[in-house]
Amino acid sequence: MPKIISSEEAARVRRKRSVTGTELFMGKSVISKMAFHADLGFADNKEVMGLIMGSLYVDDEGEYAVAEGTATSGLVATDVSVRFDPDSIEDLFSSIDENKCNTVIGWYHSHPGFGCYMSDVDVKTHKEIFGGRTGFSAVLDPSDETLMVFVNEDGKIRPARMIVSEDL
Ligand SMILES: [Zn+2]
Repeated sequence: MPKIISSEEAARVRRKRSVTGTELFMGKSVISKMAFHADLGFADNKEVMGLIMGSLYVDDEGEYAVAEGTATSGLVATDVSVRFDPDSIEDLFSSIDENKCNTVIGWYHSHPGFGCYMSDVDVKTHKEIFGGRTGFSAVLDPSDETLMVFVNEDGKIRPARMIVSEDL
């Protein structure tokens, strides 16, 4: 797993959120991209993963994020595990660069047929990527087209307060 901590360095633009209490605004097209990728993996009985790209903002309630794109590359995957292929890291950076927004605000991966939750390994991976900072983890199960998004709050993983929006 590459260390990608750009959310720490990204400047937070001051902008009031449109819905109080929401910490993640997720563009519909981002969900489509993740779901499409998860379906491709499902056809091969493999997990998939990628990064969620977007922007971080701050207002009087604190920080929040807007998800606007995804990035991924070659993977090393089985039906119960996935990681970026170390030989494809250049491709991952190119994929990141194809996005207008270049802040990594989260990551996604699929659980083909075994439900949306954070395993112990998922929690460890999430904390490695994002530390205690703003970062979201989307888990998709393509077998029943479900999606859950989690966030780490003071060391505890809980569902994110998310709104799905038309394209942002
Ligand atoms: Zn998992």
